[in-house]
Amino acid sequence: MILLDGKLVSEELKKQIAVEAAELLEKTGRKPHLVAVLVGNDGGSETYVASKMRNCEKVGFKSSLIRYDNTVTEAELLNKIQELNQDKEVDGFIVQLPLPKHINPDVITEAIDYRKDVDGFHPINLGRMQRNLPCFLPATPYGIMLMLEYYGIETAGKHCVVVGRSNIVGSPMSILMARNAKPGNCTVTLTHSRTQNLKDFTLKADILIAAIGKKNFITADMVKEGAVIIDVGMNRESSETTKSGYKLFGDVDFDGVAPKSSYITPVPGGVGLMTIVSLLKNTLAAAKREIY
Ligand code: NDP
Repeated sequence: MILLDGKLVSEELKKQIAVEAAELLEKTGRKPHLVAVLVGNDGGSETYVASKMRNCEKVGFKSSLIRYDNTVTEAELLNKIQELNQDKEVDGFIVQLPLPKHINPDVITEAIDYRKDVDGFHPINLGRMQRNLPCFLPATPYGIMLMLEYYGIETAGKHCVVVGRSNIVGSPMSILMARNAKPGNCTVTLTHSRTQNLKDFTLKADILIAAIGKKNFITADMVKEGAVIIDVGMNRESSETTKSGYKLFGDVDFDGVAPKSSYITPVPGGVGLMTIVSLLKNTLAAAKREIY
């Protein structure tokens, strides 16, 4: 079993990003600039945004945080998005999800100029992704593709089973793995909570991608010998033994599944770190005006 080491790969890719950012600064006098909009004070979102900001600084980007209370209206948020769309000093921005219930995330996502949509959630980017055209790829699926590429994992002709069909992870993941590209060219099965006899499918997976949101959901008896296991899950549980006050668990029962797998991502230290790298890569592409 080989551990797909998100720390190692992300550090390596961040070095390359930093070199390109420095070259851009030299050429244009500008650093790539990412803005994050954070609404409320959800613990998970706070942590993710802080980490995104920290990583921007590390690779020589400029980053800015705009905060709103939970009480912010959809109209106020839309006004801010229009401002950011037009601000020439902003290359890319994200509105951290989840949003409070009174704000429709689809309305917010569609209001973002697709050329600054570094989360890759805008329908134009998703449509272009499907057609294999230049676009911002959604950060988590993109990170997984970078990981597969880094380790040279053969995907062509393999059966990839994705568990979970969310707009931000499972669904785009299934599209990327099925595209005529490298990595890609898989035969893909997309499963979800209505799938009957899930295990019949997971047992046939050469590559199994779990994006469910349930701690240790994928157990050893659901996995084929020698499968590649990608665990997207980030299930937080409070803990008195950690400094942060919580512990992260994946969707895969790592201890049981790892011995059967050929490659596996740990949680933490796997996909999560790659997600941030993708955001940095998208922001760099935005600063270079590669998506138009
Ligand atoms: P969602 O809750 O949006 O989607 C979960 C998906 O899992 C749904 O499609 C749901 O099916 C499916 N599902 C739920 N229960 C079952 C079941 N019993 N059998 C089969 N499928 C099931 O979650 P996300 O996609 O946003 O996130 C998934 C996990 O990944 C979470 O733990 C999240 O924290 C983590 N995550 C990690 C990231 C990272 O950077 N590592 C980034 C984003 C998310 P249905 O559609 O039918 O409801």
